[in-house]
Order: sequence, then structure tokens, then C-alpha cells
Amino acid sequence: MTIDANMVVSLNYKLTNHKTGEKIEETTAENPMLFLYGVGSIIPEFEENIHGKKVGDSFSFAIASENAYGEKNDNQIAMIPINVFHDENGNLNVSEIFTGAIVPMSDNEGNHLRGTVLEITDEIVKMDFNHPLAGTDLFFEGVILEVRPATEEELEHGHAHGPNGHHHH
Ligand SMILES: [Zn+2]
Repeated sequence: MTIDANMVVSLNYKLTNHKTGEKIEETTAENPMLFLYGVGSIIPEFEENIHGKKVGDSFSFAIASENAYGEKNDNQIAMIPINVFHDENGNLNVSEIFTGAIVPMSDNEGNHLRGTVLEITDEIVKMDFNHPLAGTDLFFEGVILEVRPATEEELEHGHAHGPNGHHHH
């Protein structure tokens, strides 16, 4: 069975920064990546690079930042009034809001975002809402662990089910 649309794929990969060789993340045998192929849940160029592969096949390829998480955009850096982060007593929770912290936020439309704290002053918190991998050229290498047809339920839901897939509660 080869990787194509409407197949569920399980694989292990190691992701490094293509320029520096620095490791960014790596899946494990106990916790591989599991996904429904061809529904746009992962980087399109990643899908193109593993198309037609089968169990046991290995892969290694680079994806330029503009085809991965895009370039860093200064418009994604925001000054947020400090009182947004104050509790009811006007105190800042310094265990959650500190330089370098990644903080879950939501925008005016209720979309969930993650911002990285760049700077804190008495008046503002400067946050970067760029994806942490924006501006980074990626290099993936790994091996295909499992390829199977998606179930009707998975196709209906648009995601893979299973130990490392989507869980319904
Ligand atoms: Zn589901």
C-alpha cells in the first residue's frame, strides 16, 4: 500500500533547522506522527515529498521557510496593555508572563493564537505572534511506519483516529 489521498499514515521523523543543523523536534517509536493524508492538515510540500512511499521507506528532504511556516512578519508583533495580563488584584502572574514565555491568547474573532513574550514594561507586554518556525528552513528525515486506508468515519471527520490520532471524548 502506498501513500496517497485518503490513506492514514504513521511515520517517525526528525526535524532540524536546515541552515544550522540544530534539532527542532523528533517523534518517538511510542509516539509517532499519525495523520490523514491529503486533507491539508500538514505542510503541503511535506505531503508531496512522501507521496507514493510505502511501509519501511525512508525519506529526507528540505522545505524552504516560505513553503513551510512563512517568513517572520513585523505585523505579527504587538504591544498589549499590561492590564490585559493583570489578575483581579492588579498583579502580574510572573510564573506565566515572563520574557520568552509562550502564552495562549485569542484575537477579536476568538481565534486561538500563541504569542512569545519579547519584552515586559510597566505599561505593555510586547508579544510575537509569528509561528515559532517562521523564517526557518526545515529539514525532515524519517521512516514510514504504517499506511492504511482511512475508515469511513475518519474520512467523514477529516482526521485520523487511533492511539496517536484524534481522540473523541
Ligand atoms: Zn474524529
